[in-house]
Amino acid sequence: MAKQFQAIRGMNDILPSESSLWQHLEATVRDVLAAYGYHEIRLPIVEKTELFARSIGEVTDIVEKEMYTFDDRNGESLTLRPEGTAGCLRACIEHGLLHNQTQRLWYAGPMFRYEKPQKGRYRQFHQVGAEAYGMPGPDIDAELICLSARLWRRLGIDRVTLQLNSLGSSAARAAYRERLVAYFEARQQELDQDSQHRLHANPLRILDSKNPTMQAVIAEAPSLLDHLDPESRAHFESLQDLLGAAGIAYEINPRLVRGLDYYCKTVFEWVTDTLGAQGTICAGGRYDGLIEQLGGQANGGIGFAMGLERLVAMLAAANQSGIDTNPHAFLIMVGETAQRRGLGLVERLRDELPALRLRMNCSGGNFKTQFRRADHSGARFALVLGEDEINAGTIAIKPLRETQGEQITLPQDQAGAWLRTAVLGTVA
Ligand code: ATP
Ligand code: MG
Repeated sequence: MAKQFQAIRGMNDILPSESSLWQHLEATVRDVLAAYGYHEIRLPIVEKTELFARSIGEVTDIVEKEMYTFDDRNGESLTLRPEGTAGCLRACIEHGLLHNQTQRLWYAGPMFRYEKPQKGRYRQFHQVGAEAYGMPGPDIDAELICLSARLWRRLGIDRVTLQLNSLGSSAARAAYRERLVAYFEARQQELDQDSQHRLHANPLRILDSKNPTMQAVIAEAPSLLDHLDPESRAHFESLQDLLGAAGIAYEINPRLVRGLDYYCKTVFEWVTDTLGAQGTICAGGRYDGLIEQLGGQANGGIGFAMGLERLVAMLAAANQSGIDTNPHAFLIMVGETAQRRGLGLVERLRDELPALRLRMNCSGGNFKTQFRRADHSGARFALVLGEDEINAGTIAIKPLRETQGEQITLPQDQAGAWLRTAVLGTVA
């Protein structure tokens, strides 16, 4: 039968079989962020279109062709957020969180970009982002990088490398930009259509092109790192020194420019070779000018965002999907009295053992049916209440996975203590 409704292309359901891995990832991320003193900020999914146009930049892939933009009923242009930095800064400026103070913040949630859906690239995807405001030095850059490195260690993710670059000050970048335009103009016939279009509007982005036919002309382009202003150079050197001291390995990639306009000085990406073409799992950088540009007090800012779909894919490939969410026990009840008393019994067990995962048979059925359900549930033990047990005030406990021994029968009020040792491995 043809399904009448389908999810929007590029927007995924996260099914129950996948959600435990997501929860494991999210909980680990939250733990690490909390350990570094970052506080969560929760932000709307919709913002004024103008906010993204002004912060991300008019001539970027996101603003030119990837935003979900619509007019609301008042004719105001709104956009589903394509990233989190703009909204986070908007909120901080609006609520005065940047006046003579620093902030370490994080956010999580869905982002929306109208891209070509493929493995690791979706139209609704999820990010966790961290942002730090009011700290102009390279120490906070190093902290954020160490934080992300720790997260990979905690998740058991290896085979990621850190790529690092500096984009310099906006003045230095403007000078470099002129050199770059002159260089690309001289080799204009080698540029693809996208790059022709970017040549005058946003020439740095040409360096970011993934088109194989462009790689030669990009490789020979003047390097941004040769054009850094002294302050940015010192910042970059000092960052490298700090990373070295913290034992963080990195590669300098002078072609790393990042797709958004607001970056300056430090930019970085964590890249893996295990996910095919969509190999960047985390990306970020410094955006010192952006706060002022959005109407706030001049203030340093730096942040990164990681793509949760790509991280989940890495965890799944590393075979970490074995997070056990099956019930510990499944209650089988046969007979009217057993069904009536069973609910009271499982509720008392839940009071006694809040960590116990206990499933109760619903919709009746004979022993055979209920045992089949118990088995399907993946539970380790069946708790059985039949007429005999009701009459004797007992409960039978039958191991469902072979290696766990014989069936036993206990007084009902001892079932909790037994399960505590057998299942949770603790003694009352
Ligand atoms: P890419 O070069 O892969 O398009 P980007 O530079 O556009 O990434 P950012 O805006 O820096 O990405 O977002 C940070 C991270 O969010 C990326 O490194 C990636 O892990 C994830 N991400 C970005 N776009 C998508 C998407 N469409 N689907 C899934 N994950 C995404
Ligand atoms: Mg992109």
